[in-house]
Amino acid sequence: MKTDIEIAQETKMLPIKDVAAQYGISEDDLELYGKYKAKISNELWNEVRERPDGKLVLVTAINPTPAGEGKTTTSIGLAQALTKAGKKTMLALREPSLGPCFGIKGGAAGGGYAQVVPMEDLNLHFTGDFHAITTANNLLAALLDNHIQQGNALGIDTRQILWKRCLDMNDRALRNIVIGLGAKADGVVREDHFVITVASEIMAILCLATDMDDLKERLGRIVVAYNFAGEPVTAKDLHAVGSMAALLKDALKPNLIQTLEHSGALVHGGPFANIAHGCNSVMATRTALKLSDITVTEAGFGADLGAEKFFDIKCRKTGLKPDAVVLVATVRALKYNGGVPKDQLSTENLEALKKGIVNLEKHIENIQKYQVPVVVTLNSFLTDTPAEYEFIKNFCEERGCEFALSEVWAKGGDGGMELAEKVLKTLETKESHFKPLYEDSLGIAEKIETIAKEIYGAGSVSYSPAAKKAIAKITDMGFSELPVCMAKTQYSLSDDQTKLGRPEGFELTVRDVYVSAGAGFVVALTGAIMTMPGLPKKPAADSIDVDENGKITGLF
Ligand code: ADP
Ligand code: MG
Repeated sequence: MKTDIEIAQETKMLPIKDVAAQYGISEDDLELYGKYKAKISNELWNEVRERPDGKLVLVTAINPTPAGEGKTTTSIGLAQALTKAGKKTMLALREPSLGPCFGIKGGAAGGGYAQVVPMEDLNLHFTGDFHAITTANNLLAALLDNHIQQGNALGIDTRQILWKRCLDMNDRALRNIVIGLGAKADGVVREDHFVITVASEIMAILCLATDMDDLKERLGRIVVAYNFAGEPVTAKDLHAVGSMAALLKDALKPNLIQTLEHSGALVHGGPFANIAHGCNSVMATRTALKLSDITVTEAGFGADLGAEKFFDIKCRKTGLKPDAVVLVATVRALKYNGGVPKDQLSTENLEALKKGIVNLEKHIENIQKYQVPVVVTLNSFLTDTPAEYEFIKNFCEERGCEFALSEVWAKGGDGGMELAEKVLKTLETKESHFKPLYEDSLGIAEKIETIAKEIYGAGSVSYSPAAKKAIAKITDMGFSELPVCMAKTQYSLSDDQTKLGRPEGFELTVRDVYVSAGAGFVVALTGAIMTMPGLPKKPAADSIDVDENGKITGLF
């Protein structure tokens, strides 16, 4: 079997203007980044905004193994298959972060014969959006520290600074640092922190903003610190909005690339789903809905994280209404959830499968709480066995779920025809009555408890003293109507990554809570989750190289 990058590099791409033409996008509305990548102009939105929306299909998954379960692969394969079935289909996906790219997981352009290309570009820098986001984030940090240095007219309490610097890299050494060491002219000494760019509030803001005006409003609302009186100091107070928005001008425009079978993909924004809200930009999703019959989009990690936030943050706040959910499972991840170690997932093990399938069961029940029809699909791996398939298929059918085997990784769109058929049947025959899980009017703690009990299966929630204080303060500041963005491990339904399967009755620990007023949510940090990941003992970076012709190897 060829590697992902070999398959991608062998593909003859269409010029991006030809891909765009299939959706009625003229060359005038493209801003070309070379031959195979383009940004969509601001004018295009104004041309299409009055059109009716196509159907919206969300791809999500059970709790994953460390390698990911093939949501992106399945999303892309499904879009390829729907296109083959004669439906005008557009993908709306996230841009990959360099953290996992050089860390454990590798890139995020799909896999096998279900990929978007050029995959090397997408995985490395792409059109520079993450650079712009990182720079806007760090400009705000520089303005903040400079304000303190220049006399601190706003009375910023350096012990209560919330804003963190960011970098799109897994770099644990930057989690906790001291800045401003040296002479008087070298700044004021204080403790500081880095988060990974995909956890930055600027990333969330870019992904939730509907246009430049909205982006600026949101940037202005960012709470960077408290002053000595305990009152919030915002990015607007620091006069940072105009310059940050100028840096983000192009990053705000969705990027168009293509699948291996030449259908279109709008790839834009990339917040992680464990430590951020996990969905591509609203602008990309909205544009895709106007340009196609069916939009296929992905939310990160398991449905407890990505799908919950897609529904309760992105859809709630923007009025998007999903028509169907595709829930991806793999034999491997179900066995992993049944307690099988990572290196033994390729051996048939029906006992472990029976034990782990309760994880799938919980995710099916969870999605049904949002009243959106669900199709379960098994992303097939070469090591799976017929007995394992049979068992999962029966399990789903006994629960009244549509089920399809997907072989898009091995066969591209051809391997996704059964899945495409089930999705089309669902769109035609089942109505979505989408509703978010909780009301805006619930308090912050009540929202956290609702998600913990209804979605995770927790019995109770405990709060650290800091979290309790923060909730009281945020409520006082008038932010209790905002939805909650949970930060939690992706490996378990609980906040403890060793509790696999379907844990029940556990206590969820909320360590800290803060408001992302610009993004429009309150973040709750649970368990031991970190907003700056680290690299593993043998990082993927070990195997990546480039030859004298600029050809990259070792990316996956
Ligand atoms: P997710 O979006 O769920 O994180 P991805 O689609 O990015 O997962 O896939 C993760 C990795 O697994 C990729 O390297 C991909 O090539 C590989 N992969 C996905 N599906 C299969 C499959 N059916 N067989 C083998 N490898 C697969
Ligand atoms: Mg993915």
